[in-house]
Amino acid sequence: MQMKRQDSTLAFERPRRRMLESQIMARGISDARVLDAMLQVPRHMFVDAALASHAYQDSALPIGEGQTISQPYMVARMSQLLELQGHERVLEIGTGCGYQTAVLSRLCRRVYSIERISSLSERARKNLRAARHANVMLKCADGTQGWEEYAPFDAILAAAGGSEIPTAWVSQLCDGGVLIMPLGRAGAHVLIRLRKRGNELIEERFDDCSFVPLVAGDGA
Ligand code: SAH
Repeated sequence: MQMKRQDSTLAFERPRRRMLESQIMARGISDARVLDAMLQVPRHMFVDAALASHAYQDSALPIGEGQTISQPYMVARMSQLLELQGHERVLEIGTGCGYQTAVLSRLCRRVYSIERISSLSERARKNLRAARHANVMLKCADGTQGWEEYAPFDAILAAAGGSEIPTAWVSQLCDGGVLIMPLGRAGAHVLIRLRKRGNELIEERFDDCSFVPLVAGDGA
């Protein structure tokens, strides 16, 4: 069964194309590189085998430990808002099962992704290996501290929501860099984009959304 899943990068092509057209393009995502990444990354390989047939539906899905893989549209939306060209180094907070990481890895030079729950971080490592994504570095730690060793980053994406923007993220962002995160109280986040220009921070607000909480401190 495991072999079959690992060899199935090309499987589910039709549902993946349908997902792209009906959920992503229909809602206005138009960045050709993002659309291509969403078409190429085998989302079914990032969820439990029992959920594989649901992988392309228009929703988040459980990935264990009370966490979820984000809805396909939200992954595409956040990726598009980063406006990646291909040369960037990107910090991701909340690896989860590694799906958003895989999409990002097709859009930039290198992804540095942090997950606080070790079982998820390990699972993401296996998923990313099976889907053959090599330009990714993973770490199990508290992502609110960022990843000082590899800073500064051209872009930062958080897949967990909180009521404030961690100061480490802002200081680890390049001048001209972009940060995307769900900001607000639990269950009522707004997707924000922060652009750093010298000492100035320019904030824009986008979709209302609901993400799992950003939890400070090390996990299990
Ligand atoms: N993009 C992921 C979504 C995972 S959900 C995917 O495609 O699967 C968000 C993840 O953020 C969860 O796995 C949660 O454990 C993690 N998380 C929450 N707070 C964190 C923190 N402080 N540091 C690192 N990861 C965190």
